[in-house]
Amino acid sequence: MRYTVLASAVLLLLLPRAAAGADPDVMSDLHVTIRTYDTSSLPPDARQAAIATATGILALAGVTAVWMECDAVFVRSTGDPCLAPLGRTELSVRIVRLPPKPGHAGILPLGYSLVDTKARSGALATIYADRIAGLAVNCNIDFGLLLGRAVAHEIGHLLLGTPEHADKGLMRALWSRESITDSPESTWVFTTRDARSMRVALQTRAAEQFAHAIREFLILNP
Ligand SMILES: [Zn+2]
Repeated sequence: MRYTVLASAVLLLLLPRAAAGADPDVMSDLHVTIRTYDTSSLPPDARQAAIATATGILALAGVTAVWMECDAVFVRSTGDPCLAPLGRTELSVRIVRLPPKPGHAGILPLGYSLVDTKARSGALATIYADRIAGLAVNCNIDFGLLLGRAVAHEIGHLLLGTPEHADKGLMRALWSRESITDSPESTWVFTTRDARSMRVALQTRAAEQFAHAIREFLILNP
C-alpha cells in the first residue's frame, strides 16, 4: 500500500456488459460513485463549482461521476447508503483542513490518495481544502475550480491505481503558481491514455462488483 501525494434487475443489466468484454472506448455508461466527506465546511458555491469541474473532467475521459454527500454529522438511519460498505465502483474523497506548521516554507501537499500498487487500485483520497484555497488566492483563480481539478487528480490516482505523475496536465505532481496561471483550461484534463486506462479499470471494477453481487445473492438464496 502506498500513499501518493499531490504537491437483481441491476444484475441482469450488468451481465451482458461484463460478459461481452465490451470495448471501454465505446461504452457510454461507465459510472463511478464518489462519496464525499467534507469536514472543512466548504462554501456551497465552492463545493458546487468543484463538483461541476471534477464531473466535467471525468466526463471528458468517458467516466460519469455520481456524487453522494456523506458529509452530515447527524446520526444516520439504517438503510442510509453512506453506511453501506464501499462497492468496487465507489470511491471516498475526504475534504479536510490541515494548516501548515508555523514558519513552514517548503512545498505543501494539496492532497493524497491511498493506492494499492500491487492491485493497482485505490478507494480513498484526501484533499486539503484550506491549502487549495490559499493557492487559489495566490493564483487569482476560482477556489472551486482549483478544488475540482484537485479532486479529479486524486480520483485519477485511485482509478489508475498508481502514484505516478505526468510532466504536465492534470496529473502533474507539482502545482506551482506558474503552472496554474500559465496553463490553459484545456490542459487540465486526463491524457487519452489515462482516460482509456481509467475506463478499463472501471469496467473491471464493475465486473468484480457484479461477481460479488452474484455471490451475495447465492448465499441469501441457496
Ligand atoms: Zn498526484
